[in-house]
Amino acid sequence: MKQKRAYRYRIYPTDEQKHILARTFGCARFVYNWALRLRTDAYYERQERIGYHELSSRLTHLKQQDDHIWLNEVSCVPPQQALRHLEKAFKNFFEGRAEYPKFHCRHGEQSAEYTTSAFKWDGTSLNLAKMDAPLDIVWSRPLPKGAKPTTVTVTKDTANRYFVSILVEEDIKPLPVVNKQVGLDLGLKSMVITSDGEHVGNPRYFRKDEKKLAQAQRRLAKKKKGSKNRAKARLKVAKAHAKIADRRRDYQHKLSTRIIRENQVVCIESLQVKNMVKNHSLAKAINDVGWSEFARQLEYKAGWYGRTLVKIDKWYPSSKRCHSCRHVLDSLSLDERFWLCPECKTFHDRDINAAKNVLAVGLTVSACGEAVRPGRAKALSGRTR
Ligand SMILES: [Zn+2]
Repeated sequence: MKQKRAYRYRIYPTDEQKHILARTFGCARFVYNWALRLRTDAYYERQERIGYHELSSRLTHLKQQDDHIWLNEVSCVPPQQALRHLEKAFKNFFEGRAEYPKFHCRHGEQSAEYTTSAFKWDGTSLNLAKMDAPLDIVWSRPLPKGAKPTTVTVTKDTANRYFVSILVEEDIKPLPVVNKQVGLDLGLKSMVITSDGEHVGNPRYFRKDEKKLAQAQRRLAKKKKGSKNRAKARLKVAKAHAKIADRRRDYQHKLSTRIIRENQVVCIESLQVKNMVKNHSLAKAINDVGWSEFARQLEYKAGWYGRTLVKIDKWYPSSKRCHSCRHVLDSLSLDERFWLCPECKTFHDRDINAAKNVLAVGLTVSACGEAVRPGRAKALSGRTR
């Protein structure tokens, strides 16, 4: 079965390529924002919905106007793709998966998407439309042999680094079936706790980078607005952010791949469930370790390798339920890391017990094909778990 997979590499464009890219990013961003404004105004003023095709023909018209002739100086594909992205953003909004689309800002990450008509791939080098030399790509890992890229996206992050993401269709072979299942819970001291009792990913790993970031931010705050030093300080902050993001992404990928490789069934709680715990520090920690990104990786990797990811989307008392005798405590405060079950006298590590419950509930869900009943959760609606 063919699966889509993106390969991302660092690139070093020449000055001329940087110039072309800057204009392409600008046009794509302009078209996105222009279309977003049109759609928003049409809806507020006349309750009218303007779809992709209508916007596309208006764009053709716009490009013929004297004051927008500059839109023709770049490849026509990235602006067109920007319209498609907007269409998708609206679809996600209408279907309740995302917030209302926002305007793209020239200070944020910039990107331009090229489809097959706008790039050339000869098996070793990649040429983008309007450029006369191939991109200088750092091949940190090879593209699969005979890969036919379908989409190429160039991005420039806030630390002024350039990347290319190459989307290919690939035969990903499912991994051999293993007889192992695991439940994962999110911890405060470790990123993930498994039902096997393993603590993985200490967020403290990032603490040094975070200190550097805080320092850069303090320096930025002292600089005069509009000064050259302020611009330099801002770049330093962006670089510190980028470094943390890189390390985290790297870490999450290694961890999600390993968990998917080792287990046939992986059970987790959905973020909606996690967010039901109204506790600021926990909410911050959830945010910090990027649980939703981690869950997303588990999901698509499970799809690639023939594994099952079970997402539990109903709340149940995972922390204060004893996994061996099913006794549920009346309350368990967040600072209690260990507890003794009054019924069966089992001594529990709070997080490992929770992960074991996630596994148990997850297996029930996948066996019945339906969501779990909250059970006693209703009666014990105090959200301390
Ligand atoms: Zn017990």
